[in-house]
Amino acid sequence: MTQQWIDRVSKEIIVETARQLISIPSVSGDEYEVMQFVKSWLNERGISYVETANDPKRPNIIATIGNSSAGPLIAMNGHLDVVPISDAAMWMTDPFEGVVSEDGTTLYGRGASDMKSSVGVMLTMLDLFKDASLRGALTVHIVSDEETGAVYGTKYVVGEIEAGRLPRPDYVIVGEGSLFKIRIAERGGLAVRVHFKGRASHTAAARVTGINALQKAAKGILALEHHIDTFHPAVGYPVLSVNGITAGIAANVVPGEAVIDIDRRTVPGETVESVIADIRAKLDPIAAEDSDFVYELEYDPGQYTVANMTSADSPLVTALQSAVRQVRGQEPEFFVEWAGITDARLYRGIGIDTVIMGPGGENEHGANESIPTEELFTLGKIYAATISELLLS
Ligand SMILES: [Zn+2]
Repeated sequence: MTQQWIDRVSKEIIVETARQLISIPSVSGDEYEVMQFVKSWLNERGISYVETANDPKRPNIIATIGNSSAGPLIAMNGHLDVVPISDAAMWMTDPFEGVVSEDGTTLYGRGASDMKSSVGVMLTMLDLFKDASLRGALTVHIVSDEETGAVYGTKYVVGEIEAGRLPRPDYVIVGEGSLFKIRIAERGGLAVRVHFKGRASHTAAARVTGINALQKAAKGILALEHHIDTFHPAVGYPVLSVNGITAGIAANVVPGEAVIDIDRRTVPGETVESVIADIRAKLDPIAAEDSDFVYELEYDPGQYTVANMTSADSPLVTALQSAVRQVRGQEPEFFVEWAGITDARLYRGIGIDTVIMGPGGENEHGANESIPTEELFTLGKIYAATISELLLS
């Protein structure tokens, strides 16, 4: 049964759909036009959808086939916003034109890897299964605003689900890159700002009345920037990275304050309190030796993202495992090392089993972003096998 559906997946249709999505520019904030394309693509194929938006200029499309009163509702989530072009001179093709290499092996363009191509694969699944007698329903959440905070995208969609205005999925598959691993967990995150206090003065008096806050910040950064050696099998190591510094008002004034921004990624078991205690444990010994080393921490516990995980026993995970075995002929892994935070957290946050299953791809967020077309074909086959497993067996 499942094999029949795998055999019906068309590489050509997948690559063409992905190419068309890439060929419509949609940097975050500018998703309107690509969503109009999605609507006409669905209309042409008689697939029904609703549009839901926090801002009508940044809509989300919820397209559905099947009958959710007859069985589970499987959702697939993908974002159509992309990051802006950097290193424009390095691109070998027009970033806002989907270009297939002459030998047909690679699709280039912004969003090829992150993640318009996966959305293309998801759309073709709706078309593939629309006439099947599904025991349940398949819905695709095509969202805006993943790269810049999700307030107009998945956060809004999840809010609508919570409010009962959109049907609540039983399972969600997010199509971000996962190297075909079944990614069941991701790190959390907390932003922490450290204010180092000094005393501003004339440069000439720097060694007399000045206390250079920038020098204190430098000591702090060197103490904080280290590998954290506590491995968690589902998400790997925690990460602390100092990603910003602000100090100095003029070249002839000793800075009286310096501020650094820490991005701290957490693993299951860590809390806001434990993260803050770890930071203090790095900085306090410096203060004990240097009475001019004075700092304050600023953070908002309300903005803390908890590390989150779906049980490996979930029927969604089991279905994906058998799909990967069948399509790739190998045992799927769970753990994706050094992977980032995704919209999966938002569905897990309301208690829905959620897994990331996506391709590899190259140069996400960089120049010459691309995806091997064979990977998109493989992803289509894995999705088809999973849908068949959950809605047709
Ligand atoms: Zn992405």
